[in-house]
Amino acid sequence: MTSAVSSAASAASVGPSASWPGASAPVIELHGVRKVYRTGSLEVAALRGISLSIALGEYVAIMGPSGSGKSTLMHILGALDVPSSGHYRLAGDDVSQMSEEQLAEVRNRRIGFVFQSFNLLSSLSAWRNVELPLCYAGVARPERRERAVAALARVGLADRVEHRPGELSGGQQQRVAVARALVSDPALILADEPTGNLDSASTEDVLGLFAALHEAGSTIVLITHEPDVAQAAGRVVRVRDGQIADDSGPAPAGASPRPIAGKSGGHR
Ligand code: ADP
Ligand code: MG
Repeated sequence: MTSAVSSAASAASVGPSASWPGASAPVIELHGVRKVYRTGSLEVAALRGISLSIALGEYVAIMGPSGSGKSTLMHILGALDVPSSGHYRLAGDDVSQMSEEQLAEVRNRRIGFVFQSFNLLSSLSAWRNVELPLCYAGVARPERRERAVAALARVGLADRVEHRPGELSGGQQQRVAVARALVSDPALILADEPTGNLDSASTEDVLGLFAALHEAGSTIVLITHEPDVAQAAGRVVRVRDGQIADDSGPAPAGASPRPIAGKSGGHR
């Protein structure tokens, strides 16, 4: 483990702004990222030179047609894979040079994942699901419970901590997944089609939650096919044929993303 990773890990419990020195460094910096898949003699260049900078506290949607490279980009942003060439810095650390073990540390401690399919364990209560990343990080049990309950309160589920996923609605299950993503105070929340399995009311509910997290200072990258969902973000990056086709750019300082739902969510 590098000292950068271990110092970030020990600082992780005191809040996002304390997770790295010099909080003005971009959370995400991609420079000339290429990803080539080889199957037999065939080569597919899934990403063909992506350069992108995302600042602390930005809320960014990544859109693009099927096959454009969104999943490949998500895997690289999430430290699930490394570029074939080019560089990726996450909160100042060069992820492209990390070992498998270091990548696992980054995934567990610095990135909060939210998936389309929730990925909750059905036999565990809400708070037990939320504490899981802290178990992997070696946090002591009383602190795990306290932090899991606090994360559930942040997503409006303080009265559902003992419920199992099957006893919750789809929107509530995704809220539990968002609480699990938040519990480790990650530098980045990375959501892959987080509303893909939700009806329109639950979609607004979850987007309202993301808007509230953004207002509270979280850095969020959301991958989506849905233009309505993308519009909830302050910045939209469009990917086509492995390249950035369009980037609306950082929102003006102090600007809020378009409100879709209020902080309490689900008005309509
Ligand atoms: P999207 O998520 O936008 O649909 P992907 O990132 O999944 O796009 O794919 C981009 C391109 O890379 C596509 O041409 C796809 O066929 C190819 N590709 C993706 N993953 C692999 C893989 N593991 N092996 C070979 N080719 C792949
Ligand atoms: Mg995909």
